[in-house]
Amino acid sequence: MTGQNAGAAPARVVLIEDSEPIRQMIAVYLTNNGMKVFEADTVSAGRRAVNLLKPQIVLLDLGLEDGDGIDLLPEIVNQKIPCMVISARSQALDRVISLEKGAHDYMTKPIELRELLLRMRRMMATQSIVSSPSETIWAFGEIKVDQALRAIIPASGTKNVPITAMEFKLLRMFTSRAGRVVDRAELAKVIGVRSVEVSRALDISVSRLRKKLRDAGYEVNLRSVRGSGYLFSSDAITLGDDADTVSYTHLR
Ligand code: CA
Repeated sequence: MTGQNAGAAPARVVLIEDSEPIRQMIAVYLTNNGMKVFEADTVSAGRRAVNLLKPQIVLLDLGLEDGDGIDLLPEIVNQKIPCMVISARSQALDRVISLEKGAHDYMTKPIELRELLLRMRRMMATQSIVSSPSETIWAFGEIKVDQALRAIIPASGTKNVPITAMEFKLLRMFTSRAGRVVDRAELAKVIGVRSVEVSRALDISVSRLRKKLRDAGYEVNLRSVRGSGYLFSSDAITLGDDADTVSYTHLR
């Protein structure tokens, strides 16, 4: 995310599909259309990706190696994540069962990519209107913070990591300016330090934030730029420990 795309973060899409050529084709197309696509090729990898990333939309194949995508559907829609089934099964029954189980839409392969994109955009537009204002989860890419609990939600099964209001402000400032240097004077204001001379306090706060993110399993690239400020690079977010079963693809 180096270019500033009118301020909007790219929509995160989890694509669960076991056929590599189809997955690639869809992923490349959606990426070229400004979305961030995370690929999974099994039910279990898909489940992990959805739970971890809380994407804006899920594309779900039904025939997967380790099970039927339909079993994953209720788990996805229970999290209020819109899901589109993409399946080679063209029987009315599959379509009906999918819609009954909460799928927002259903497309039969072969997938017409432009149509897929249009339908996805429509789904997301509807979703943003109906999404609940009581949502307390703030997310940036893989990083999630529960604002009600005042805690960073860990990337992998460990405990929530408490975060102070000030650290959260810093995090929001860094993520909103990802890829750009945020200067020390601005950051000093965020932490309530008037003079840049007391910058030691700033460095301590930033390193504490970095440590907390790391404790929660997020390895972020947040570095000091000598003489000017800090640079947070969003492309460098990686997940700790057990992210290996999901392939996180950031196609460019
Ligand atoms: Ca399949």
